[in-house]
Amino acid sequence: MSTVALKDVSKVWPDGTLAVDRVSLDVRDGEFLVLLGPSGCGKSTILRMIAGLEDPTAGDILLNGEPVLNMPPRDRKIAMVFQDFALYPHMTVGGNIGFPLKLSGIEPGPREERIGDVAGALGIGDVLGRRPGQLSGGQRQRVAMGRAIVRRPGLFLMDEPLSNLDSGLRAELRAEITGLTRELGVTTMYVTHDQAEALTMADRVAIMRKGVLQDIGTPTEVYGRPATLYVAAFLGSPRMNLLEASVYVHLDRYVALNLGEQALYLPWDDIRSRSLAHYHGERIVVGLRAEALTPVAPDTPGDVLRGRVRYLEHHGHESLAFLDVGATAIAVDELGKGVTEAAPSGGTLRKFGAALQRVTGRTEKAVLDRAETKTSVLNDPGRHQRRPAELAVRLAPYPAIAAGHPLAVGVRMDALHFFDEHGDRIDIGWR
Ligand code: ADP
Repeated sequence: MSTVALKDVSKVWPDGTLAVDRVSLDVRDGEFLVLLGPSGCGKSTILRMIAGLEDPTAGDILLNGEPVLNMPPRDRKIAMVFQDFALYPHMTVGGNIGFPLKLSGIEPGPREERIGDVAGALGIGDVLGRRPGQLSGGQRQRVAMGRAIVRRPGLFLMDEPLSNLDSGLRAELRAEITGLTRELGVTTMYVTHDQAEALTMADRVAIMRKGVLQDIGTPTEVYGRPATLYVAAFLGSPRMNLLEASVYVHLDRYVALNLGEQALYLPWDDIRSRSLAHYHGERIVVGLRAEALTPVAPDTPGDVLRGRVRYLEHHGHESLAFLDVGATAIAVDELGKGVTEAAPSGGTLRKFGAALQRVTGRTEKAVLDRAETKTSVLNDPGRHQRRPAELAVRLAPYPAIAAGHPLAVGVRMDALHFFDEHGDRIDIGWR
């Protein structure tokens, strides 16, 4: 049983890379928390600091309420499973699983019993006598898990444990891992870059970007009410449609969201209109997931966007139409399209850089450099890279339309998301 608390934890590598930027996080006893983000965003560094393999540059880490920065890794009662786990090739499965018990001097009798229990729980009880070379990839991963849990750790740290396996096996092991950790009641922190893995496995998901914690919540919360534009764009398939909109308030009547050639209207008595009224005359980002859009007859009145199909993508169970509605797309970097970015404020970073300089006694140049890179998602210097939005719309498989055809889609106005130019959610503040 364990709780984990990170208090303003930062890690700057000696070369000046700011890998983790003031992350505060609480993991509850028995919780399955997934750290999600693209490669290089600092997820592994966080796990390694909790395990005691790296020291934070600033901040504190507590296990069960006790500061542990001065506690050696072996005393932290933590088990780690990595992507590139190494089994001892000359030992049997039973020998591999029981090795940590042997090291801690547990007698052969009770040791065999524990090995049998763990192997049974993992479904590898019938291969205890084999060597790793005689196992499938999935079985080897189960042995690595068995070796980690046999000591009954209080905290399980897993770093992309499934990423070397094929997709069928990954799906199967996902369910096994969550089932096992919940049965054992072990607090688990699980690192992945795969949003599907995060949304299916987690009690709560913590989403990271460039060392900064962007959002944390249950899968439903982070998907349904993403705190930032980045989280909105990262979660979901197809990706959320993100459009630039100018806001015009017609007092007591409606708030118009001008998307270029067309507009959407929020009635004045919609509670969100009051928040949006603050942006009168300004541009914001409107987010629409594919599930907020439904094809309708061309002459349907009301909340409808009309456009032409640019291209279609067939996925077997459904087809996606990408619709040009005369709006401008907002691209979020690191997601493959990248022209813009929303960085933390320069002032805060400069202050942080100065504080680090005091702590480490040297200028963390990279930290200071990054302080100068703040740009707005709406005023990016690569304005010429503005591109027409291709609105992803779900259709039945193989629909009777083709590229170039006109299409009208009804918009579920209650499912819109709004973000300001810094990529922060515009909300009525109940979260
Ligand atoms: P993730 O797990 O999200 O892929 P990491 O925590 O491994 O990210 O890395 C975060 C950042 O720190 C990256 O920019 C990476 O290159 C850098 N980094 C990781 N380990 C080291 C190290 N030992 N020395 C210098 N930089 C490192």
